[in-house]
Amino acid sequence: MVDSDALTATDPEVFDAIRNERRRQENTLELIASENHVSEAVLEAQGSVLTNKYAEGYPGARYYGGCEHVDRVEQLAIDRAKTLFGAEHVNVQPHSGTQANMGVYFATLEPGDRILSLDLNHGGHLSHGHHVNFSGQLYDVTQYGVDPETGYIDYDELATLAEECDPALIVSGSSAYPREFEFDRIAAIADAVDAYHMADIAHVTGLIAAGVHDNPVGVADFVTGSTHKTIRAGRGGFIMTSDAYGEEIDRAIFPGGQGGPLMHNIAGKAVGFGEATEPAFERYAERVVANAKAMADVFVEHGLSVVSGGTDKHLLLVDLRDSHPNLTGEEAETALESVGITVNKNTVPGESRSPFVTSGIRIGTAAVTTRGFGRDEIETVATHIVELLDTPDDEELAATVAEEVDSLCTVYPIYR
Ligand SMILES: *Cc1c(COP(=O)(O)O)cnc(C)c1O
Repeated sequence: MVDSDALTATDPEVFDAIRNERRRQENTLELIASENHVSEAVLEAQGSVLTNKYAEGYPGARYYGGCEHVDRVEQLAIDRAKTLFGAEHVNVQPHSGTQANMGVYFATLEPGDRILSLDLNHGGHLSHGHHVNFSGQLYDVTQYGVDPETGYIDYDELATLAEECDPALIVSGSSAYPREFEFDRIAAIADAVDAYHMADIAHVTGLIAAGVHDNPVGVADFVTGSTHKTIRAGRGGFIMTSDAYGEEIDRAIFPGGQGGPLMHNIAGKAVGFGEATEPAFERYAERVVANAKAMADVFVEHGLSVVSGGTDKHLLLVDLRDSHPNLTGEEAETALESVGITVNKNTVPGESRSPFVTSGIRIGTAAVTTRGFGRDEIETVATHIVELLDTPDDEELAATVAEEVDSLCTVYPIYR
């Protein structure tokens, strides 16, 4: 349909960078917990002529003509999300997870209102009220955390804080908390202080769609998510709520916070959501979690501290302070990157180093599971990570691991 040589002819520089990025993805192990590899079908939908179309408004009620086909695409995305999550009302237009959260804040809060959310150092997200983000600048933010002993959310502290600060909105959900949130319990705490409850499921969207993680839809007033992490639907965000709040949410996204929707991305969401309704996706999600648990087991066996002692989902957070007091998260990230294993440095609960240095690394299994990894491959990689953290300057070891990474990448290609 589209000339596949157009880019190389028109813009060899961009073509070259894209080709190199594709090679980088093929030839390295992606263990960044927020990343994944979408299907060729999602790529094709995202790279389609839908990028040409203006469609301000919603299906059946647009401000532009010629919307019959994009209406169909957006309705498919909405209907598939409703099926996957059991939601009454879905908005698939947020350009990102952050804009989904912005939509909920705009629909429910006035500037200066109070938000109660998880501390960034304990696994929270910038868009939950960090001072460098609009959410921290517009709203008055109080943060709850995890129990330093157990690494689990301290729900009693959360309940006490809620009574003390009387928030308008309580946010659950996280970027680096390895355990499931008790959504029921947070909903009860929010009810008791007459606050809204927004569950941000950005990281676990796919696990929830597959039924391997508790679903907050119908429990929280608003559920926001991203579409490119454990669900493989391309970069973007979405919001789910009840019919009672549907119109307010839709108005907060358009015209409140965005103009024309990215119809090519919405097509990607439709395709990815469709793929997630297949039985194969449930098996994928089960395997993602089993792989993360297997990796945590290897780390714990070798004496590494894993925050909360393990994981319920696709990610784990290694706290290096006990086992490797002189190794920073930044140094660990660099040592692993040099052999083709990509992770990110991450702050840990009780962090004393800066966010650019950190004392931890966050590791996720969603992307390597997409390329076919099972228990054996995960245990091999986990063992190598342990060895590299012990002797980050051992060049011979680094060369051996890099070779192993290469051969795993060849056996498990992403795109054929
Ligand atoms: C990733 C993430 C988001 C969304 O991020 P975007 O980059 O804006 O799509 C929102 N909330 C949490 C908790 C996240 O981890």
